[in-house]
Amino acid sequence: MIFLKTDDEIELLRQSNLLVGRTLAEVAKMIKPGVTTKQLDKVAEEFIRDHGAVPTFKGFPNPYGGPFPGSICASVNEQVVHGIPNDIPLKEGDIISVDCGTYMNGFCGDSAYTFCVGEVAPEILELLKTTKEALYKGIEQAVHGKRLGDIGYAVQQHCEAHSYGVVREFVGHGIGKEMHEDPQVPNYGKRGTGTMLKKGMCIAIEPMITQGNRQIVMESDNWTVRTRDRKWAAHFEHTVAIGLDKADILSSFEFIEQVLGDKAI
Ligand code: MG
Ligand code: MG
Repeated sequence: MIFLKTDDEIELLRQSNLLVGRTLAEVAKMIKPGVTTKQLDKVAEEFIRDHGAVPTFKGFPNPYGGPFPGSICASVNEQVVHGIPNDIPLKEGDIISVDCGTYMNGFCGDSAYTFCVGEVAPEILELLKTTKEALYKGIEQAVHGKRLGDIGYAVQQHCEAHSYGVVREFVGHGIGKEMHEDPQVPNYGKRGTGTMLKKGMCIAIEPMITQGNRQIVMESDNWTVRTRDRKWAAHFEHTVAIGLDKADILSSFEFIEQVLGDKAI
């Protein structure tokens, strides 16, 4: 069931999502060779709790892998999503997708950004840039009267035009009082098909894009998803409210990009 949100509820969602953006900026300040993803996780968890919110990922249930131990998902290089923070130091030239969720005032925030560790190869920068562009192409379609398939089509077209893989097994989602609500929001689709978008719907759009083919495998921890061919993957996510003329982006990369300065993608 899809819950339409009132304007007041959308403002609460915005607050939670802005905190995610600010948390990701705190993480961005720390990303450099030698830092471990566990250290990033600790900073994120403290920042979220210091602002009166709860990290929604921490303890998130999984019948196969046990509850998620981190407050962020930290997915490095060939890892696509749901990487568990660990003690392995980041290396020069790595990329790391950091996905973060908060629960504050009864509403959830969810946003993700893929960061470079030092200088990364030009073809990897291109993957990141294209994935981020695809996110905004999807957001352009998040308008009252369009359909879910229009979002997926826009993301898929942009990424496949660059010969990248579009992951099918994991998708975006409705968001509100719960982190994952209906509907599912695939990153592929046909124009003019699927659920009609309505003002007040709030969704997370999150392209997960691979440099090689789109096949993925689950690691033995039953959380970490990586590419089968071990080529690298990128992931960017915004939470948005469907608007009459355009989407209202509730999360923000602004805080991150202030930290990154001219290194922003
Ligand atoms: Mg997320
Ligand atoms: Mg999400």
